[in-house]
Amino acid sequence: MHIALIAHDRMKDTLVALAREFAPQLGQHALMATGTTGGRLAQEVGLTVECLLSGPLGGDLQIGARLAVGEVSAVIFLRDPMTPQPHEPDINALVRACDVHNVVCATNPATARLVLQRL
Ligand code: PGA
Repeated sequence: MHIALIAHDRMKDTLVALAREFAPQLGQHALMATGTTGGRLAQEVGLTVECLLSGPLGGDLQIGARLAVGEVSAVIFLRDPMTPQPHEPDINALVRACDVHNVVCATNPATARLVLQRL
């Protein structure tokens, strides 16, 4: 599977912890991530991750574009529901693309855990 991982700043520690817990499973798949998230997953968890642009610079859109042509099979996107984001339209576009193409999309830690358990 091709799995995309994204976490907003206040959710990055949570994603790193989840990725650490599920590193053996994640390591069996092709991973891509927005820039800062991917850097942390590589450095702190040791995963091999293709790092795209940072989210606010278009990383979410890059993932959405790949997803639209069938190159992403699941998205783990830990959004921060308490902080306004400058790239809100990009975030909405990515989540919408998941719905349009019926791609697994976990937007909170509880759902992410369920998805990771089923990898
Ligand atoms: P980042 O992007 O991983 O580069 O921080 C995530 C986002 O804010 O969408």
